[in-house]
Amino acid sequence: MQGSTVYLETMGCQMNVLDSELVMGQLRAIGYRPVDDAAKADVVLINTCSVREHAEQKVLSRLGALKKPKKDNPDMIVGVIGCMAQRDPDGIFGKMPHVDLVCGPGELNKVSALLEEVRANRTHAIALSQSMSRRNTVLQRALEHDSVEALDLSRDPAPDENLLQAYVRVQRGCDKFCTFCVVPFTRGPERCRPPAQILDEARMLANRGAKEVTLIGQTVNSYVHPENSRPVRLADLLVRVSDVAGIERVRFVTSYPGDFTDDIFEAMRDVPKVCEYLHIPVQSGSDAVLKRMRRQYTVGQYIDLLDRAREYVPDIAVASDFIVGFCGETQEEHESSLRLIERCRFKNLFVFKYSPRPGTVADRHNHDDVPEDVKRTRNIELLSLQERLASSHNQTLIGTTVEVLVEGFSKAALKAQEAEQLRGEEVAWRRTDQLAGRTRKDQIVVFPGKPEDIGLLADIRINAVTALTLHGEVVRD
Ligand code: SF4
Repeated sequence: MQGSTVYLETMGCQMNVLDSELVMGQLRAIGYRPVDDAAKADVVLINTCSVREHAEQKVLSRLGALKKPKKDNPDMIVGVIGCMAQRDPDGIFGKMPHVDLVCGPGELNKVSALLEEVRANRTHAIALSQSMSRRNTVLQRALEHDSVEALDLSRDPAPDENLLQAYVRVQRGCDKFCTFCVVPFTRGPERCRPPAQILDEARMLANRGAKEVTLIGQTVNSYVHPENSRPVRLADLLVRVSDVAGIERVRFVTSYPGDFTDDIFEAMRDVPKVCEYLHIPVQSGSDAVLKRMRRQYTVGQYIDLLDRAREYVPDIAVASDFIVGFCGETQEEHESSLRLIERCRFKNLFVFKYSPRPGTVADRHNHDDVPEDVKRTRNIELLSLQERLASSHNQTLIGTTVEVLVEGFSKAALKAQEAEQLRGEEVAWRRTDQLAGRTRKDQIVVFPGKPEDIGLLADIRINAVTALTLHGEVVRD
């Protein structure tokens, strides 16, 4: 569609960030031009998340805000793509009649065809995977597999795209069926991509300027794909991607505690480009809650896993996820989570208040009986404890030197500068004074630097810290 404009907004996880990049590439290839203002776009797409009720409410609110622009410009096409589209297409069309198309995450290679269908027939266009029911046949699964593979294989980043840190999908879907989680229904069964495709993509990204590659999968550590009659596992992929010329750092997210094998720790220890960072959600510090969630490990096994990780890589940084207020969570069970946080010394935590997701086992068989104010209090308690522990850990970094991949201007500094300008104050420093980057352990570092430092690996001496950010100065030879 030569000359048409598209606005694409992404909510949710790294999978969605990558899916959006691929959809945008697909549309750019047929002449669409990306724009920053939804109200002025010919096509508005929202890539959605269904993991929590709050995420879906946010989507509905964004769609509600598009009613007026669509009324002013009836030719505008409004599309909902991603997990919420797959989970609740009827609900979306029912509540938001101005939506023209819905497309599930397994069908995203069809977005351009769906847009054509809407234009040609002025009708709703829909593409959903059958995997929601998970009763799909072998043939159906094969077709869906081709469909999602086609999307990944179409990757062709725009010349001006910032690829310094790039995601590479190694796996789609999930077979775990944790009782609270909608992902196995929206993204379908686990499917791993062939190693050769992953390597080709990493080489292409390195040629376009990528220095850091993050291999992504819903349970990335369970990656396995046959090759010449032997299984290729995540540890093999880490080694192979590290060998790609131009790649300086390799990461992987998200890991599932039950499937962790020591060959991954060996790769983290022995391959210098593999970063010493692990994101491994535990969800609760109580065995009873883990059982109700159908997580396939105990708290003791999780602790053993982190102990083993630290034997291989003593200064490994570990991030985790917790859900507070899961069905039936008692005060004692909540306190078990607090004790686990004290014990595990996490680098950072993502804490979420439980909300029932339609179609999941917990929604059908458990009772969402923890009051909202109790969930809120527990959420604050976990985060406050983590903040205290992280602040005190970060204090130990003052005076040390860390390697940082310089990403760009500090967002906080830019915001502060905008606020000063809005207040008519004289700006004390130029935006180019403050750069931000990440360490190998995924810590954000802010420091004064020069724009020409962006994209480089720099050594930064840390001189001040908060719970989430390190501040320092470049160590120049
Ligand atoms: S492992 Fe559990 S929480 Fe993670 S995506 Fe699969 S079902 Fe959801």
